Amino acid sequence: MPSDAQPTGRCLNCDAALAGPYCSECGQRARDPSRPLLEILREFVVESLLLDGRLTRTLGMLLRHPGQLSAEFRHGRRARFTSPLRLYLATSLLCFSVFAIRGCVAPDAFAGDDPMLVDDGGPDEDEADPALDRDTGLMARVAWTIRDSAQQFARLPPPEQRKRVYTGLTNHVPRVLFFAMPVFAVFVQLLLWRRPVRHNYVDCLVFGLHVHALWFLSATLEAVLPEAVGGLLVLATMIHTTLAFRSAWELPWSAAWWRALALALLYGCMLVLAVSAAFLLTIVYG
Ligand SMILES: [Zn+2]
Repeated sequence: MPSDAQPTGRCLNCDAALAGPYCSECGQRARDPSRPLLEILREFVVESLLLDGRLTRTLGMLLRHPGQLSAEFRHGRRARFTSPLRLYLATSLLCFSVFAIRGCVAPDAFAGDDPMLVDDGGPDEDEADPALDRDTGLMARVAWTIRDSAQQFARLPPPEQRKRVYTGLTNHVPRVLFFAMPVFAVFVQLLLWRRPVRHNYVDCLVFGLHVHALWFLSATLEAVLPEAVGGLLVLATMIHTTLAFRSAWELPWSAAWWRALALALLYGCMLVLAVSAAFLLTIVYG
């Protein structure tokens, strides 16, 4: 690229002699700082949207060869692929943007479903938990605050309720998922206990990032495809994840299927708890 040529032949950052497009001392790419804006924009698009072939290669392997991408990283073959964190962030951004645009997460899908959210506050007041009456400690106060807020929430007009639920979901779910990732990796590591395959925590984390990236892509598709296809997609995603678990950790089938199932159950329960907690926070603190 002509604009990459360094007029001086020396690195502008550390003044080392250059012998290629990158400085061998500090790693800075040799580029003319006064290159035109269009050129800078082009580089930005290519590098940050990963149109350099890496993203297509990464996505192709992620989708077509379940678990293989994580295995490649585990064996140290990284440079050809998009970094797992970047892949995770890009796919989650895509997913939540589509959800936000389509309004899929929000309004009617959720507002009426959760019995706690639409609790009319009636029968509940009479059947107060006796344990709460006896206990006036911190837990009881927290429980009362939550109940109070839930009742206040129930009295809100439905459009306002929907707005709150929607805001809560779009604000909290991405964060909940992001902070759930390290726990996912812990679960994976526990499930691989004493397996003869090398698996340190970072490997498990990379696997988690890849699996979540696939889930984000699947959820994005579900949001835009008709409902009937959506069901099949969920099934396909579950099978894909099981295959990925097996292949990423080189497990025989007999060792893979129940571990994948256990992982789904553990992680599923944890997510339900975490998202419920996020909902409660939304309701309590609006
Ligand atoms: Zn340098």
